[in-house]
Amino acid sequence: MNRSLNNSKRPKNVVLLGSTGSVGTQTLDVIRALPDRFRVLGLAAGRNVELLASQIAEFTPSRYYAADGQELANSSDCRPVSLNELATLDDVDVVVAAMSGADALEPIIAALGAGIPVALANKELVVMAGEYLREAAQQGGTEILPVDSEPSAIWQCIRGETEKPKRLIITASGGAFRDRSWDALRSVSPEEALEHPTWQMGRKITIDSATLINKALEVVEAHWLFDIPYEQIDVVMHKQSIIHSMVEFQDGSVKAQMGPPDLRYPIQCALTYPERVANPTLSRFDPIEVGSLTFEELDSSLYPCFDLALDVAKRGGTWRAALIGADEAAVDLFLDGKIRFTEIGPVIERGLSVHQPIMDPSLRQLTEAASETANRIRTAISAVKG
Ligand code: MG
Repeated sequence: MNRSLNNSKRPKNVVLLGSTGSVGTQTLDVIRALPDRFRVLGLAAGRNVELLASQIAEFTPSRYYAADGQELANSSDCRPVSLNELATLDDVDVVVAAMSGADALEPIIAALGAGIPVALANKELVVMAGEYLREAAQQGGTEILPVDSEPSAIWQCIRGETEKPKRLIITASGGAFRDRSWDALRSVSPEEALEHPTWQMGRKITIDSATLINKALEVVEAHWLFDIPYEQIDVVMHKQSIIHSMVEFQDGSVKAQMGPPDLRYPIQCALTYPERVANPTLSRFDPIEVGSLTFEELDSSLYPCFDLALDVAKRGGTWRAALIGADEAAVDLFLDGKIRFTEIGPVIERGLSVHQPIMDPSLRQLTEAASETANRIRTAISAVKG
């Protein structure tokens, strides 16, 4: 049974994990714009309890989760529950997974296993545990609905096709430093790195875009979500961020999905699936205004982290989880001013050099590999730099 495919006219019940982050607030923008379509059943957030409380007041869910077991005053009609309970509430039609970190992994797997479709924004979880997510979706007879713009584009291109694609072409904006040489980046500040040329996103993903680790993670994500071998996934630089990705089919025809660089489009596409719904709050695409679209080869010598991340991710076992932990720690250290931008790659590489992989790991071993690698890197850097 796929709960998102019910034909009833009632609004869809949404549980949103990670409601106060960038994807979470944009998801609530979509829901706010389409009040007849959705009802918020549950919200989960991390430490930003003030924003969570105001979201509860506005959207009146029946359940919530706040990290560290915090309880909110004045929320008597809205009870605190665990993340797992929230993700598998009776009557939930779709869970939006927009929470950073590995805490959402177990609840998402529980939801999929219970037949609840999951709109997934957190690519780190697919990279860490793609096989577990795929298996849970199969067991539950439901789907993972991509929210990030590139996998959403691929998904939209292959919907309705009966044969496997020949090739995926993932587009990359190149991030904040796309017009600078790697050597010129030694002294860039976190503020400069957080200036993305085309997308408004959270801090971690914006830094991942500047190093292009984000693009490597998207290749891995596409490999697992769409079951496509790595040799059939290419990345091309496309600075306008208008074409969100392309799919080549066996006959050589190519479909591209395009639109303004605004995450609310792919979020809405996942939420209303399989329907398409007019949203008056979103701007309309104007090809004349865009003018020209350009494509260039990805020069990976300018982005050493791209090859590093992809090489590590292609290894089996706990390597992908360790990569996620290493990247998370390195990005935090850069944002805290503890390491330079150009040290992100070397710090990840050193952190991974002592990783002892476990092949065929359990879910727990995956999350432990991520957190142990992250902790080891943080400890090693603070031992040197205080
Ligand atoms: Mg993306």
